[in-house]
Amino acid sequence: MKHLELWLGIGLGITVFLLWIGVDLTPVVLLAGIGFVLYLVTQGKLGRNVQIAGNQAITRVDTGVRFDDIGGQEIAKRELLEALDFVRDQARIQELGIRPLKGILLTGPPGTGKTLLAKAAANYTDSVFVSASGSEFVEMYAGVGASRVRQLFNKARQMAKKINKHNAIIFIDEIEVIAGKRGGHTSHLEYDQTLNQILVEMDGIKPDEEVKIVVIGATNRGDLLDSAITRPGRFDRQVKVDLPDKEGRMHILNIHSKGKPLAQEVNLEEVAKDTFGFSGAHLESLINEAAIMAYRRDRTVIQMEDIREAIDKVIMGEKLERRPNPGELKRVALHETGHALISELLRPESVATLTVIPRGKALGFMRQSQTEEQYLYTKEYLLDQVAICLGGAMAEDLVYGNWSTGAANDFEQATSITKQLIVNGLSRLGIIQEDLAGKERIHEVMTELLEEQKQRVRSLFKDRSLLLNNVTGVLLQQEKISGAWFREQLKSA
Ligand code: ADP
Repeated sequence: MKHLELWLGIGLGITVFLLWIGVDLTPVVLLAGIGFVLYLVTQGKLGRNVQIAGNQAITRVDTGVRFDDIGGQEIAKRELLEALDFVRDQARIQELGIRPLKGILLTGPPGTGKTLLAKAAANYTDSVFVSASGSEFVEMYAGVGASRVRQLFNKARQMAKKINKHNAIIFIDEIEVIAGKRGGHTSHLEYDQTLNQILVEMDGIKPDEEVKIVVIGATNRGDLLDSAITRPGRFDRQVKVDLPDKEGRMHILNIHSKGKPLAQEVNLEEVAKDTFGFSGAHLESLINEAAIMAYRRDRTVIQMEDIREAIDKVIMGEKLERRPNPGELKRVALHETGHALISELLRPESVATLTVIPRGKALGFMRQSQTEEQYLYTKEYLLDQVAICLGGAMAEDLVYGNWSTGAANDFEQATSITKQLIVNGLSRLGIIQEDLAGKERIHEVMTELLEEQKQRVRSLFKDRSLLLNNVTGVLLQQEKISGAWFREQLKSA
């Protein structure tokens, strides 16, 4: 501080002298102003979020996220809380001589709430929260990554001291970018140096430090991580953050629809059932999109119709302006009805909606609802799925005697499922080693299985061409039909 006053005094003296001899000081004053603002920004005196120079790391005093704001993920929350209690209960930990917890690794698909969990962890442990993403560390210049890691750890310590906190959480997203298996990057050693620096910093965390640091890493590719990082004493805890199940989805939908006006008829349980495979981020976006739909339709409450449309949008993307010509549209409607018919015949109650409104890359689509969560698949299940995939092209074939390129995606899916069936030992080849069985043999069995399913679909269509035609007509007219309506037609046919 004394230095600052001395320099200010000297600066003032020089300024007065220069003004006295008639020098124009405008550029100097401007430069000094810019310098001062930059100083405040780097010192974190402007606002609560602090940017580390040359790096996007962000420091927060209060992340504003509590564990109650995170839906589903009960197991992940429990495991994380258990680990965090070590941080909170320092006295007991030291009494028992337990090694301090240095790192927690959150692994799971994108959008499942890993960042949210890390932020909630910071609040729970009354820590400063510093975050950065793996990709920000890596540049073409050697040593930059390592020095950024050092800066990140220093920043966390400084910030915590400044506001009298004893804990800091450093959150590193996409940690696989820097903590991938060492030696795997042939281009340069930058990644390895960055990883080494993280390991050095983590090894340097001591139990009696003034500020206790816990590093939380997040990745959706846990398999890519160098084993050095998961060794005891580094990322000691690994917490899996999976896609939510139906109950979890319901919980997340409840959290995000709080404060939004939902119509009486809205049944979030039904929405949870219809959104199999959605992450927390998808569900958040779904509720937001539904509110936008309601706004566009000038409604005061969000209705089920808005939610259904939002589901389609989240899965397939925004509606396209470009409309197919009437001939194409008829083919698309027939194609989707074909999928739906096979789906409903093989798995009653499985059709959620049918549409011919072009969205994203698709001209139309049939959405299936999952009646129950499934983690293992039998041969019968997989073959039924292949038949459902082929239903679209086979319906086109029935009416036009050929199919269009619209079936390309279905074929890709159908071949991938048959391959899955073969490599899992469920085909006539029995249990095989994929590399040793030979590509041609596998291909031969694949073609056989696909041909069998094609015949099966054809026989299911037999005697149902009138129904196929009628539903196609209504779909063309209404652009969208519900699974319930479709089932009624099937029953009365
Ligand atoms: P990740 O870090 O796993 O990629 P995020 O934590 O960044 O995912 O989640 C992104 C957004 O998605 C969050 O801001 C939140 O709105 C929503 N979200 C994700 N998972 C959940 C969840 N389990 N509960 C509530 N909201 C969630």
